[in-house]
Amino acid sequence: MLSARRKSDGQIVNAYFESKANAPFACPQCGDPVALKTGKNKINHFAHVNPVSCKFATGENDAHRRCKLEIYQALQREPNVTNVALEVPMGTNRPDVFATISGVPVAIEVQISALPVETIMQRTIDYFRNGICVLWLLPWTPKLDSDRYTPKIWEKWIHTAYYGRVYYWIEGAKVASYRFDPHHRTIPKSTWYTKSGKKMTAGGYSERSKRYRTPVRGETYNIATDFAPKQRYWWEGNGVKVPDAKLFMERSKLGE
Ligand SMILES: [Zn+2]
Repeated sequence: MLSARRKSDGQIVNAYFESKANAPFACPQCGDPVALKTGKNKINHFAHVNPVSCKFATGENDAHRRCKLEIYQALQREPNVTNVALEVPMGTNRPDVFATISGVPVAIEVQISALPVETIMQRTIDYFRNGICVLWLLPWTPKLDSDRYTPKIWEKWIHTAYYGRVYYWIEGAKVASYRFDPHHRTIPKSTWYTKSGKKMTAGGYSERSKRYRTPVRGETYNIATDFAPKQRYWWEGNGVKVPDAKLFMERSKLGE
């Protein structure tokens, strides 16, 4: 995690600006001691001294920290963005980055590791109840440039919730919009003869893949200037449920 409570004055501080000389630090969620970790090739961060039952003690890697920190820093530079904060506890949630963007409270959640769809839905519901818009992001990967991509289950859920798009973080406050098209594989035509001399044929058509999708890149957006709130109503179809939600998404698609 990138933020902790500094015990000397009770302030919530950012690992990026902190020094070990100001220890001790505590986890803002559970109050247990955390240590500042610094290193040349790593993003400064706090780690629980004792691996504990705190749900914020694990599940984070350097890529995740870098992404959070860059979004946080980029939003702070935007004139229409205020209250930018890292990892603020909000009810049962703790968004990676929280900000008020053009007057709209927005929770930004960056997902790297697999997360049960139920967890994503529950967090989305909690934000909705608190009147907070949510933006689910994933870090961009070169795999998206392939015509054959395997979205994770929760990635497909995000795609459904956001009306057929997923936002991948590029740098700073920039994200790329992608949609998943069906992926078809060609079953080659083959011909053979049975023992009795009967001609048989098979294949020669294309089949929709259950596993793969073809990612199609759309525009690149700035979260601070190109996104707006969108009320999503409860929806169910194709075995997927989307709860009432306040989404934060590209302005140009709000008519949908
Ligand atoms: Zn903790």
